[in-house]
Amino acid sequence: MSKKLTTAVSAGGLVIGGGNRISVQTMWKNSLHSFSEDDMIEIKFLESIGCDILRFSAPDMKSAEVLGDIRKKLRIPVVADIHFDHKIALDCIKRGIDKIRINPGNIGAGWKVNEVLTAAADKNIPIRIGINTGSLPKEYSELKDKSEAMLRAAEDEIEILEKAGFKHAVFSLKASNIEATIAANRAFSNKYDYPLHLGITEAGPQIAGIVKTSIAFYRLFEEGIGDTIRVSLTDTPAKEVISGREILKACGRSDYGVTIISCPRCGRSTFDTHKFIAEVSDELYLIKQPVKVAVMGCIVNGPGEAKDADIGITGVGNKTVIFKQGKIIHKVDENKGRDIFLKVLHDFIESEGGE
Ligand code: SF4
Repeated sequence: MSKKLTTAVSAGGLVIGGGNRISVQTMWKNSLHSFSEDDMIEIKFLESIGCDILRFSAPDMKSAEVLGDIRKKLRIPVVADIHFDHKIALDCIKRGIDKIRINPGNIGAGWKVNEVLTAAADKNIPIRIGINTGSLPKEYSELKDKSEAMLRAAEDEIEILEKAGFKHAVFSLKASNIEATIAANRAFSNKYDYPLHLGITEAGPQIAGIVKTSIAFYRLFEEGIGDTIRVSLTDTPAKEVISGREILKACGRSDYGVTIISCPRCGRSTFDTHKFIAEVSDELYLIKQPVKVAVMGCIVNGPGEAKDADIGITGVGNKTVIFKQGKIIHKVDENKGRDIFLKVLHDFIESEGGE
């Protein structure tokens, strides 16, 4: 099914919804009170590996101040996640933060809600309304049907927004349960045109989290639902970004960056694919152009199995073999294999008009 045409909102130049590409987000996992230069390097790395939007918790004014400084040093849009205090939201908006995650229903008095919505509208900043099964309003938290509970909570927020004439909203309806998440997003999408941020909340550690999230995203994408995604893992933000990118590619929603074909190894293996992948994957994920790379365990089946890869590598004896589109182009000493593979790869990308 083709992608549902939701309303488009813009966050720091990135358009979410309106049929635009699905963007990948992650969330910074530490307090901004102890933010350091090393953290900035890590954030720059997230930017380099294809993170489109980066969210930070801003539970107090000190965090808002640090976030304002971070914003000035990044190209990608920054989101402030605020739960109750409308003054922090106003401060973040003043500091040029690109998007605010706050639920108007949690702010309290109507005049406070109006102040936040007016300030956001004045600066054309979108607000994400996040409905999670873990923090449903009291009146819905006991409902057995969690998708219904999430939809009702979202509708209460829509009523507040619409009363204030505020249009630049993105919604998320997340549960740790796949079926409840799918049903809630499907029901919301059938009724409303707001762009949807998809996610399975508290999805779990790396493997479990990626499996659950992939299933939910695939099914929603197939129904044309989803404008921006976060894979919420008990793991690093970089793993969340790479997982998001991989899911989009596997679901045919993106061809951004490297596709890695790598063999699992078997008794015929003469090349340690596991070690090689661990060594080069950070560098591979910096590539923005679509390119297929094969890392194979043996010369017998490797190049043949990886025929549709652009550039590949395997070992034979104490030599390393580099191949291009299934044909061997170099046979070099093992200790030179990695550098030559990366050079051949970058030359290929350049020859294709990439960076
Ligand atoms: S490429 Fe070679 S080592 Fe890898 S799984 Fe296939 S036969 Fe085994």
